Amino acid sequence: MKNINIGISIIIFFLFSNCSLSNEPVLPKNIILMIGDGMGLSQISAAMYTNDNFLFLEEVKHIGLVKTHSHSSIITDSAAGATAFSTGEKTYNGSINMSVDTVPLTPITNNLNKANIKTGIISTSSVTHATPACFYGNQVNRYGVGEDLATQFLQSNINVLIGGGEDYFNNRSDNLNLTDSLKKKGYIMIDSIIDVVPPGTEKLINFCAPKEPKSKHDGRGDFLTLATKKAIDVLNTKNNNGFFLMIEGSQIDWGGHDMDSDYIISETLDFDKAIKEVLEFAKNDKNTLVLITADHETGGYGIIGGDMKKNTIKTSFLNDDHTATMVPLFAFGPMANYFIGIYDNTEVYKKILTLFNLSHK
Ligand code: MG
Ligand code: ZN
Repeated sequence: MKNINIGISIIIFFLFSNCSLSNEPVLPKNIILMIGDGMGLSQISAAMYTNDNFLFLEEVKHIGLVKTHSHSSIITDSAAGATAFSTGEKTYNGSINMSVDTVPLTPITNNLNKANIKTGIISTSSVTHATPACFYGNQVNRYGVGEDLATQFLQSNINVLIGGGEDYFNNRSDNLNLTDSLKKKGYIMIDSIIDVVPPGTEKLINFCAPKEPKSKHDGRGDFLTLATKKAIDVLNTKNNNGFFLMIEGSQIDWGGHDMDSDYIISETLDFDKAIKEVLEFAKNDKNTLVLITADHETGGYGIIGGDMKKNTIKTSFLNDDHTATMVPLFAFGPMANYFIGIYDNTEVYKKILTLFNLSHK
C-alpha cells in the first residue's frame, strides 16, 4: 500500500511538472499595431481629461516606453520612426525603408507575407504618407513620391489597404490606372467604407479621399472605426496563419504641427474609438496581441490647467514640430508582458517577428 502511495505520488509529481513544462507562453496568432502619429502622453491625457476622464485605452494594463530617436537626429520624423517599426533599423529622417547608406530595407509585411501571414494597412492620411508607406514601400526621400509608392504597393502582397490617396493610383502623371491593376490582382474595391463587403473577401481596398482625408472635426465621421472593423473581418477570413494589421491615427500629429489642441483631442478620441473596436475583437478572439503606440510626440504639448468638471483644459506647446520625449506603448493580449520596460522603437519590430516565430537580424 505504501509503495502504491509512493507510486501515485511520483505520477502526480510528473503530471504537475509536465503541466508546468507545457505551461510555455502562448504566442499570439494575430498582431494589431496601432500608431497614433505624434501621440505622446500629453495628447492621451488631453483626450482623457476632456472626455469625462475616460479613454477605452485605459483597459490596457501592460505599458512600456519607447525611445524614438532616429539615426540622424535625436528628433525623428514619421518616416524614420515607421521605418524602425517596419524594418528594425534606425535610419535618417525622410527615409522610407532605406538604410543610412540608402540600401532598401525589407518591410515587415514582406517577411510576414512570405510566412503566409496576412497583412493590412489603415491610415487617416493618404496611404502614401510616410507612416503607412513604410509598411510596403522604399524611397530615399518621403516627399513627392506618392505615385512611385502607389506603384510599389501594387508589387506587394498586402491584403487590406484603407486610407486616402486615390489620385496616386488613378489620376497619375503617367496616365496609368493602377486601380484597374489592383482589381486584376483580386482586390475588392469599395467606394465608401460603409459599403457592404462580399462574404469571403480576402483582399480589400478603400480610398476615402483623392489625397488627404478630412480631419475628424471637418466631417471624417466614423471612418477609422468602420475601417478597423472591416479590415479585421477581411483579415480574419480564412485566417489559417494569423494576420498583422497596422492602424494609424495620422492626424494627431497634424494637430500638433498646427499647435491646435482641439484638433489633437478630436483625433486622439477618434483613435480611441478604433482602440475600443480592436480591444473588443481581441477580447473575443483571445489570440490577438494589440500594441498601441506612437512614432514620436509632436508639439512639446503640455497641459497647464483646466477644469475636469467642465471637460476643459488649458494647454501649451514648445514648438510646432516633433520632440524627442519617449512615447508610451500599451500592450493587450497574449505576451503583452513582453512589452513592459524601456526600449528602442527598433525593438518593436524584433518583438513582433519573434512573436510570429520568425527570425530577425
Ligand atoms: Mg503618419
Ligand atoms: Zn509630424
